[in-house]
Amino acid sequence: MKSLLALMLCLLCLSVANAQFKPPTESAVDRFLRYVKIDTQSQEDQTTTPSTRKQLNLANLLAKELTALGVENVRVSEFGIVYAMVPGNVADNSKVPVIGFIAHMDTSPAVSGENVNAIIHKNYQGGDIVLPNDKTQVITVEKNPVLKKLIGDDIITADGTTLLGSDDKSGCAEIMTMIDTLRQNPQIKHGTIAIAFTPDEEVGGGIEKFDVKAFGAKFAYTVDGEELGEISDETWSARTATVTFQGKSTHPGTAKGIMINAMYAIGDYLDRFPHDILPETTEGRVGFVHPYAGVIDVESSNLKILLRDFDVSGLDAKEKLLRDMVAQTAAKYPEVKITIDVKENYKNMKEVLKNYPELTNNAMEASRRAGVEPFLKPIRGGTDGSNLTFRGLPTPNLYTGGANFHDKLEFNSRRGLEKSTETLINLVRIFAEKS
Ligand SMILES: [Zn+2]
Repeated sequence: MKSLLALMLCLLCLSVANAQFKPPTESAVDRFLRYVKIDTQSQEDQTTTPSTRKQLNLANLLAKELTALGVENVRVSEFGIVYAMVPGNVADNSKVPVIGFIAHMDTSPAVSGENVNAIIHKNYQGGDIVLPNDKTQVITVEKNPVLKKLIGDDIITADGTTLLGSDDKSGCAEIMTMIDTLRQNPQIKHGTIAIAFTPDEEVGGGIEKFDVKAFGAKFAYTVDGEELGEISDETWSARTATVTFQGKSTHPGTAKGIMINAMYAIGDYLDRFPHDILPETTEGRVGFVHPYAGVIDVESSNLKILLRDFDVSGLDAKEKLLRDMVAQTAAKYPEVKITIDVKENYKNMKEVLKNYPELTNNAMEASRRAGVEPFLKPIRGGTDGSNLTFRGLPTPNLYTGGANFHDKLEFNSRRGLEKSTETLINLVRIFAEKS
């Protein structure tokens, strides 16, 4: 009982402390609504970075707004990456590690991001949300139990014909609003903060052009997660296998004894995939193998397969399985020459982040201070943070409040945007306090 009272007093103090903050000059919601109007859809298989020129429209706007917020060293690189630096305001800034915040500007190629018409469902009172311009698009409580936590909130969706672009314009708006709030409240003590907005996260490639050294952070966070409280310091370890089946083509009229049809071998190989380790049959921490593309032809067929697991030993086991299956198919079709080539894509960032537990701990503390109960969620994918972590910049991922990424049913909420922003502010304070 006593501890409950203490907790309540503490929460009261915190809310009083936050109430003393001057609000930002513009809310996270208003910023978000402006950014989602700018089409920044990226495109697969392009040779340039950014993959689409239109991403520069948002890059240039963010650079302009950063400059207006008094941020230093604002620049847009030749690859469309926006970098900036918020100077620290503690007595000795060199004592506080430089913390970076990164959000991506592009939206998924999966669904159009053109003419986004954001709709605010004010004071949500529960129930399914039908998107007005395509009534077949319904955000159901059944598939989105998080809606139950959003009663009374203002929910932001698209109109049913496009993406919303919460992924990751929420992250952009939250980082910008953090900077704005810090500027309005010089009494909030923080070290130097590095900022970056990146293109082409959805298609890969943008992050390779990221200049870790010029960014200047010791640690960073991508602000690109979903539900409030969700913090991720673990991603897949990922490999890709290519299995090639070499046969021999000839005119079918005179093929007897000559033709070797590689198509039967690839069919046999596909048939050997165990059904319990596929993307469609796994979730949580269970990895998978996923044949996702291929060419089927008499002379030469091939199959591309994703291998995913949180543990390297699990990945090794999956690679062995694919190789054993090659041997089995080869035994059945000895005339077809079968080869397998496996490439490493990225590794679970936990392998590095386990050495920096304070990154996750401080993020959880920042979340609690914002009144949001944090939880760790391993990401069944990779993030720009996994790339950066292995290039010497340890980078876990933070929530943005969003949901249903890469889908017309994408949404975020006022509280989602505001609590995520508050978490970022708490986080820079915690790093200053602990230094
Ligand atoms: Zn994203």
